[in-house]
Amino acid sequence: MRVIAKELSGVKVGQDGGRDRIKGLTTSLGAGGEFQMDINGSVAVITGGGSGIGRATARRLAAEGAAVVIADVDAAMGEESVRLIEAEGGRAVFIKADVNDPDQTKKMCELGLAKFGRLDILHNNAGVGVGVPGFPLAPINQWRRVIDLDLTAVILGCYVAAPLMRNGGVIVNTASMAGLYPHIQDPVYGAAKAGVVNFTYSLANWWSERKIRVNCVCPGITDTPMVRRGLEAAKKAGMPSWMPSKIIQPEAIAEAVHLLVADDSIFGRALEVRPSGARLVDTPGAPRSRR
Ligand code: NAD
Repeated sequence: MRVIAKELSGVKVGQDGGRDRIKGLTTSLGAGGEFQMDINGSVAVITGGGSGIGRATARRLAAEGAAVVIADVDAAMGEESVRLIEAEGGRAVFIKADVNDPDQTKKMCELGLAKFGRLDILHNNAGVGVGVPGFPLAPINQWRRVIDLDLTAVILGCYVAAPLMRNGGVIVNTASMAGLYPHIQDPVYGAAKAGVVNFTYSLANWWSERKIRVNCVCPGITDTPMVRRGLEAAKKAGMPSWMPSKIIQPEAIAEAVHLLVADDSIFGRALEVRPSGARLVDTPGAPRSRR
């Protein structure tokens, strides 16, 4: 198996990042052809595809020839993602779906089959932070919503999609660097994302059992509406808030998701993405021979 982590360590994903600066990542992937999944002609469902990281991933996979189902609670933003993809020559359809709801989650996955004939890729990406005020000042329903959306809905997505991936497939969960390290600003968000990382590690055996590779991406602070809303809310509440000088662009995370989808040798892994580069994080306690 190729040593992906080494190749990724030099990859820069930064402000002017997006595709150009992360080029080394796709190039190194391309060099290992035998490990590459053919995204062209595949079908992907992307939750939270109406904004930020989800929209960028949808555009990236569509540019590779995947037909994309955009699932989001925000119809206007979701439909805008479809328009953007179509304008770029891609294929996409929108479904209004709340990923907390099992029936709507099933419908969103089934739409891939009904509209495009198959389901190969699920990007479990919709997510939210606790907001202001944070834990423990936030009322119970505010932080429970974060566990529901950021963790339970990811588990639900895997549960629903797996039987529909009739030819095997790939699931990429959006976790966060907050799931790899203590996150004092938003501990509930960190706990939910750590749950996603561990859940992903624990599904490594789906590759041998079901031909489904499950991975997660762990972005650092990325320039999306979620982050800008958070900074605005903190500012209004008189709390310290600043945009870091090196912020990742959503296109760089989309590139990282693309790698996790395309490289057949990666399963049950977390890919941490910082402004300075990306690396595959080892599974704590797992025997290295499993990889
Ligand atoms: P965003 O707010 O730009 O996009 C999130 C999208 O999810 C929105 O379109 C929203 O309408 C949709 N959504 C919200 N609740 C939903 C639900 N119940 N069902 C379906 N769709 C729903 O945010 P983003 O920054 O692009 O975040 C995407 C993911 O990346 C999240 O899981 C977030 O936790 C994670 N993440 C973001 C950052 C960052 O710095 N932006 C860093 C690490 C991880």
